[in-house]
Amino acid sequence: MRVEVIVICIKNRDVSLTLAGLIAAQARLPEHHPVVPVLSARQAAIEAGIGGEERLAEVLVKSPFPFENHIFHDLSLSSDTQFDTHCLTPWFGLIFEVKNISGVLDFKENPPQLISTKEDGQICGYENPAAQLQRNCEFLKEWLWRREFTLPVYGAVVLAYPKQIVRTPPSRTKILFPTLVPSFLKSLPRQEPLLSQDTFNWLSSDLLANHHRFIPQPVSDVYNLSYREFQSGVRCTACGRVGMVKKPRSWACRFCDTRDPLAHEQALLEWFLLVKRTITNRECREFLGVDIKTASRILKGMNFNTQGTYRDRVYLMNFSEERVRFILKREKPIT
Ligand SMILES: [Zn+2]
Repeated sequence: MRVEVIVICIKNRDVSLTLAGLIAAQARLPEHHPVVPVLSARQAAIEAGIGGEERLAEVLVKSPFPFENHIFHDLSLSSDTQFDTHCLTPWFGLIFEVKNISGVLDFKENPPQLISTKEDGQICGYENPAAQLQRNCEFLKEWLWRREFTLPVYGAVVLAYPKQIVRTPPSRTKILFPTLVPSFLKSLPRQEPLLSQDTFNWLSSDLLANHHRFIPQPVSDVYNLSYREFQSGVRCTACGRVGMVKKPRSWACRFCDTRDPLAHEQALLEWFLLVKRTITNRECREFLGVDIKTASRILKGMNFNTQGTYRDRVYLMNFSEERVRFILKREKPIT
């Protein structure tokens, strides 16, 4: 009898702090600031990438498999490696590098580069995802080996949409569209399982426990901006405009009249994404436009980590996924 096992998603994609930072920066910079088009192009590229990853996630979750398959989205086992999608089975590990880049694609090997020729003839160069995938597979093999597992690790580059046309494929890397992923997974060799049920579950928990959330450099550092260029104040959590006014126990939007008692939480998260990784009481009151007492109450209520003594105390954001989702009012997992 054929037993079909539904894929278990062990880890969803983290909320992208890079994207949250880019959106906040554009809302807080003057409309005609020269960096705005750069931020907006970067935002579009990140959203396209997320769209691609979500499309693959959807296909995987809807595909019954005749064997156990644990899925991890957006897993980072070190500060500089990130697996878009990782499948762990008792026989092998499999990493997918997902790309959503439009145009005619040429995977060049020397030097490793992905060249895309757009419909209007514009040519753009990107890091070669095949080379990136190769590095990620090596990293995972090594990571498993250090835990005394010798599990084969496979990889494939997934192009999110068939509108992406491949003119020169990479010589040694499999290229797939999302709908082809389930049959590719089923085609990989499975003889005797290399992991017992307990070890398989243990390894899944260990991968999850070793995930490092990616925290981007502040936007002002990356794009060489002064924090004075950003408009200070609390941004409305409904209409996105800066200028909420402090009321007793709440904030009120001057534009759409939305009331939100926790609107300062998003503003403070934006400080860390735009300006720097720490905040003092003085910076908090300048940025939110509140008095010293209110700033103290807000900072204490945020459950921040602190460094330093009373006079030069600085507060640091807790970037846990649960906290970030709560602040951005996105408590439910996306995928
Ligand atoms: Zn509003």
